[in-house]
Amino acid sequence: MDFAFDPADEAFRQEVKAFLADNLPPEMARRSSTNYHISRADTRAWTAILHKRGWSAPSWPVEFGGTGWSLMQQFIFDQECFFAGAPLLETGGLKMIGPVIFTFGTPAQHERFNEPFLRGEITWGQGFSEPNAGSDLASLATRAERDGDEYVINGRKIWTSNGQYANWLFCLVKTDPNERQRGISMILIPADAPGVSIQPIIDIGEAHNLNEMVFDNVRVPADNLVGEEGKGWSYAQFLLENERAFSAEVPRNKRNLALLRRIAADRKKGGRPLAEDPVFASRIEQLQSDCDALEWMTLRALTAKKGGDTSLPVGSILKVRGTELQQKIGEMQIEALGDYGAVVYPGEDYLDTDLMGPGPDYAPGVLADFLYRRAVTIYGGANEIQRTILAKRYLGL
Ligand SMILES: Cc1cc2nc3c(=O)[nH]c(=O)nc-3n(C[C@H](O)[C@H](O)[C@H](O)COP(=O)(O)OP(=O)(O)OC[C@H]3O[C@@H](n4cnc5c(N)ncnc54)[C@H](O)[C@@H]3O)c2cc1C
Repeated sequence: MDFAFDPADEAFRQEVKAFLADNLPPEMARRSSTNYHISRADTRAWTAILHKRGWSAPSWPVEFGGTGWSLMQQFIFDQECFFAGAPLLETGGLKMIGPVIFTFGTPAQHERFNEPFLRGEITWGQGFSEPNAGSDLASLATRAERDGDEYVINGRKIWTSNGQYANWLFCLVKTDPNERQRGISMILIPADAPGVSIQPIIDIGEAHNLNEMVFDNVRVPADNLVGEEGKGWSYAQFLLENERAFSAEVPRNKRNLALLRRIAADRKKGGRPLAEDPVFASRIEQLQSDCDALEWMTLRALTAKKGGDTSLPVGSILKVRGTELQQKIGEMQIEALGDYGAVVYPGEDYLDTDLMGPGPDYAPGVLADFLYRRAVTIYGGANEIQRTILAKRYLGL
């Protein structure tokens, strides 16, 4: 492993920084730099800015309108964008179903979705989990039955993130109820198709991101099947490996650690800044070591991938370490905030009106993020399951 960025990568970093300085609207950066959920309007506006430069699909190959960047360039781009406060791009399309479609989809599906993907015009919902199929996803029961040129879909999906904004859903369905994995297919469903109903689920932070979806005799053209019937399980594994790798969130961990340092430098204990308390300071340094290790682990994984080594379940490793670190940093932020750690700040009002509410300017958004991040060790496949994958595939147990 080479510990230094090569000069070409450093030059690329400067190019990205200059682009951000010239093109990222400061108001948008201010809104996205808080830990509240990013508005759809900002995501779309930022995607349009990137699209003009040909950068709206940083991880895609050139033939599908992507940048063709190396993994290292993507890492640098993601990091610089995050630090500058750029909104995150639409992950459901760009990082989840998009790569599945350009790898396994039909030419008609490329034609239909490619340009909207690049322009960020579609919001996607991921319809995998069901009330009785989470960790044991292969026991999903939503049924898709072929009827002439259509599939008729009946069933129930749960925990659909951002489902209330979705225009399209990519779903796992059973096309053969007598099989487990081999009976599963992946299908694209318009969110406004007759028979689709979406109900909100309000989370622990009183936010609405999650949804339950019911399919009642929903008819979609057979052409909406992704790839081949019965291959949905392998497409889902491909998608989930990508989802897990980005859920490590190195840039977010670094930014939240910097915020923790800022809070600890300002808040007092016994008349002295918390950052000068030896026990608290040593706990922060432990998190710093964990964060550095996560970053190097990510770079090592990128280097290995570049060399063609795909033997490690890298997504599972990064997901476990990165998500647990997010939670530990959040816990210390709340502890350092003291009484203000318990204050609920009104997200949208704060962003729209500069209404500060009680407390220092770094306090809003911390509790909301802390509560939301209880879920990071669950979604994308619970960490206990990732550890089982690692035990089997990496340690051979
Ligand atoms: C905020 C959030 C957003 C989500 N977004 C989406 C989405 O957009 N689309 C979607 O399809 N799904 C989504 N999910 C669902 C998520 O993928 C599932 O919650 C997850 O796979 C776990 O499934 P479950 O909730 O049914 O828990 P269960 O599978 O019931 O697990 C409960 C607990 O038991 C443990 N456990 C289960 N089986 C084993 C085992 N074999 N060995 C050891 N421990 C085990 C788990 O680790 C977990 O701690 C989301 C979830 C959350 C919380």
